[in-house]
Amino acid sequence: MVLVLVEQSEGKATDPSLQALTLARSLGKPVHALLIGSGVDLGQHGVAVAHVAEHPALGSFAPDAWAAILGHLADDLNASAVFAAGTERGNEVMARLAARAGLPLAANCIALSPGPPLTLTRLRWGGSLLEEARLDSPRPLITVAPYAVPIEPAPTETNVEKFTPELSEADLLVRVAEHVGASTGGISLTEAKVVVSGGRGVGSKEGFAIIEELAGLLNAAVGCSRAVTSAGWRPHTDQVGQTGTKVAPDVYIACGISGATQHMAGLKGAKRILAINSDGEAPIMLSADYAVIGDLKEIVPAISAEIRKQR
Ligand SMILES: Cc1cc2nc3c(=O)[nH]c(=O)nc-3n(C[C@H](O)[C@H](O)[C@H](O)COP(=O)(O)OP(=O)(O)OC[C@H]3O[C@@H](n4cnc5c(N)ncnc54)[C@H](O)[C@@H]3O)c2cc1C
Repeated sequence: MVLVLVEQSEGKATDPSLQALTLARSLGKPVHALLIGSGVDLGQHGVAVAHVAEHPALGSFAPDAWAAILGHLADDLNASAVFAAGTERGNEVMARLAARAGLPLAANCIALSPGPPLTLTRLRWGGSLLEEARLDSPRPLITVAPYAVPIEPAPTETNVEKFTPELSEADLLVRVAEHVGASTGGISLTEAKVVVSGGRGVGSKEGFAIIEELAGLLNAAVGCSRAVTSAGWRPHTDQVGQTGTKVAPDVYIACGISGATQHMAGLKGAKRILAINSDGEAPIMLSADYAVIGDLKEIVPAISAEIRKQR
């Protein structure tokens, strides 16, 4: 059997975790899931057994505790492989598990063929390079790049088994102590259906007023490029890209963003991209579904005015 760590948000498994379940099933073995804190319905995702770890100390994210629980469960079940989503949490927990178990970790995989040795395709350099790797390990540890594997439903009867893990003080040394609200007006960048994002072309911190106005009208989150966070115009939590947040909205509106590889690495899950840029030759035009060529300082307020008029 293979074991998959499943992350959840608002009572549902997250999409990157469902993508990890889909790739894990391609090994052709029974799939068990580990859920931390509380259970979610996994009946559509080919999970034979959902193990739910319950413990009073698991109210907030504690990566070592998660790694300890995942490692012990993998030992108890004699799992032949362990998977997680290649999210910040998934990669962190799996890196800690790899260090504890002395096993190699293959991060950000998008395809595999069963071995031995197992052959994996990994996303490298923010998605600009695909690596073919052979993983020779008694228990491959694999994370799955978010939004690179389509979720395939597989209705199955899932048994739920609750258990209370034993945790040491050391397991709980690193944990989330506090959540600080992001500047995106309460709409999470990772979950927003629409993201309005600004780049260096916005020109200044104050220039973001028109981006925020449009985002407010569209019930969207505000994002930005690294040029913007480096200039101190927006906090790092708003940054989209390889070293920022990976977004998956229905529409991503890129205003004054050139479309560097490292920025586009955060947009793999975006269904449609609208580029607003004064340069018709900017690299983002290669990925954009729609483009408006012109000065964003005229175009963005014009879109907001038109939305107001329509209402
Ligand atoms: C290791 C590494 C990691 C990185 N990680 C990230 C990351 O996570 N996210 C990220 O974004 N970047 C990242 N970068 C930086 C990335 O390489 C680019 O430098 C950055 O994305 C550029 O930001 P930009 O598009 O806002 O700026 P620019 O590349 O300077 O583009 C500005 C654009 O605005 C347009 N423009 C200017 N004025 C106007 C106007 N008035 N109206 C309309 N358009 C206008 C220009 O035509 C241009 O296309 C990383 C780089 C490295 C080396």
